[in-house]
Amino acid sequence: MSKPVIAIDMGGTMIKIGILKENTILSSISMSSDSGNGLRQRLPHIEKAVKDLLAQQQLSCKDIAGLGIASPGIIDSNRKKIISIDKKFGDAPDIDLEEWCRHAFDIPFFIENDARASLLGEWKYGRAKDFDNVVLMSLGTGVGSAAVIEGHLLKGRHFTAGILGGHFVINYKGTACNCGNIGCVEAEASTWKLNSILKENSGYIDSKLALLSSADYKAVFQLAQEGDAVAVEIRDQSLHAWAACAINLIHAYDPEILVLTGGIMGSGSYIIPHIRDQIEKQAWTPWGKVKIESADFPESAALYGMSHLVNSLNKKNNEIE
Ligand SMILES: [Zn+2]
Repeated sequence: MSKPVIAIDMGGTMIKIGILKENTILSSISMSSDSGNGLRQRLPHIEKAVKDLLAQQQLSCKDIAGLGIASPGIIDSNRKKIISIDKKFGDAPDIDLEEWCRHAFDIPFFIENDARASLLGEWKYGRAKDFDNVVLMSLGTGVGSAAVIEGHLLKGRHFTAGILGGHFVINYKGTACNCGNIGCVEAEASTWKLNSILKENSGYIDSKLALLSSADYKAVFQLAQEGDAVAVEIRDQSLHAWAACAINLIHAYDPEILVLTGGIMGSGSYIIPHIRDQIEKQAWTPWGKVKIESADFPESAALYGMSHLVNSLNKKNNEIE
């Protein structure tokens, strides 16, 4: 039986920390990520939270297999570095996290992209368990993706393979994205872009959405149900953008199943049927139908994925030694 793992899901809004044994969370805590102020200022808080969780479980660092971080951005999982990350946690590429982990806990350290970690969680323990060809699409602050092809988690020479689905161009005449490209999926439909998209709409002042200090997709879907014209327009436009992204992902990675996750999937009952319908009409899959499903663990898949990763990499390292 493998030892427990410390897993950290470094979201742009919340940081989730858990102690897990395989896919069982023994204890966990969430804290605000305050990502605009960088990661360095968060590390002492993370260290304290981990030590509190260990104490709660009456565990010491010696009982732990390793610590794994699921991070947004492009991650070199071999050198254990954050290579590139947009505005959130802007100082992270300059931080030696492995050294921080050694100093704080003296246990093995691992890091992987957060969408890859979520995919691993769903693939090993959740909705995609019975498949060797899986794509995950995450709709939230940004749009994330990851792919497993023929049983291998796709990483690529520069660690970008599979994870840039949110930066597929769906409108080359579109607006600028955080990544430097134009007309990316997440520049057309994601939470970070939603309020500026709404404000550019000519009917915005007369929409109930204008009464909210900061609108989110939950409000867009609710008000669209009530017939608010701007909400209907933005909802339909966003559904088309996400379906286009899903079709691009299917054409790129040839999955048997597409798992949808992320905060916006709180409105999944509207999103899944639309995407499923558009894919059935438009994707080129003469072999049959791709399964389109919502995730089993929208909140904790990245923690499960890191738990799996730490255990399997530790095993591999021990075999090499
Ligand atoms: Zn982009």
